Amino acid sequence: MLPDTFKLPRRAMAIFAHPDDVDFGASGTLAAWADRGVHITYCLVTSGQKGTHDATMSATKLARIREREQMAAGAVVGAKEFVFLRRQDGETEVSMRLRGEVCKAIRIHRPDVVLTQDPWRAYQLHPDHRVAGWSGLDGVIAARDHLFFPEQLKRGLTQHRVTRVYLFGTSDPNIWFDITGTLDRKIKAISSHTSQVADPVRLAERMRAFAASNGRVWGLEAAEAFRAIELA
Ligand SMILES: [Zn+2]
Repeated sequence: MLPDTFKLPRRAMAIFAHPDDVDFGASGTLAAWADRGVHITYCLVTSGQKGTHDATMSATKLARIREREQMAAGAVVGAKEFVFLRRQDGETEVSMRLRGEVCKAIRIHRPDVVLTQDPWRAYQLHPDHRVAGWSGLDGVIAARDHLFFPEQLKRGLTQHRVTRVYLFGTSDPNIWFDITGTLDRKIKAISSHTSQVADPVRLAERMRAFAASNGRVWGLEAAEAFRAIELA
């Protein structure tokens, strides 16, 4: 349930490191928004090319499989568009080039709200999660003024102002969304990443317990927790 006072964005973009990150972190919330007409775009920094223990699997083949899985998961949630930046899994770096690509995706898809991974999360070990978060935030700042990446504006794009950011995978949340009505879809979305799921029953149990622990503080059956940052 969303409170009446909550102003839904018209368009939202999730920027994240690997296929499945958004499904663990934010898909229950995004499914509820999609049901209310929010246009949702996913921007993936890598295609999860190294996420396998199968010695016969190649990175190129796995990238294709995982992009398809992310699109299937996105269809469950109601995401409409997918941007694949195709950086190498596990090898991402914060760079002006990556910032420019994220900035361009924001200028093309024009989200009011951006969701990305919390790069300040304490003890965040995975470099790609940190890089996706920094690039998402830095891309938001770059997108809004015409002197950042001006070459993009010569090709018909215009600058674009995101008004709010939600960080997921955060250890310091300040907003919680009730996902009681969309938890089953969240679990279905996560389960769409079949190359990554060894035990779907155990995964569903884990996700229900995680959602319940997020909701407990507000007496909700199931929730997702975010750090919201206002930019307007
Ligand atoms: Zn990840």
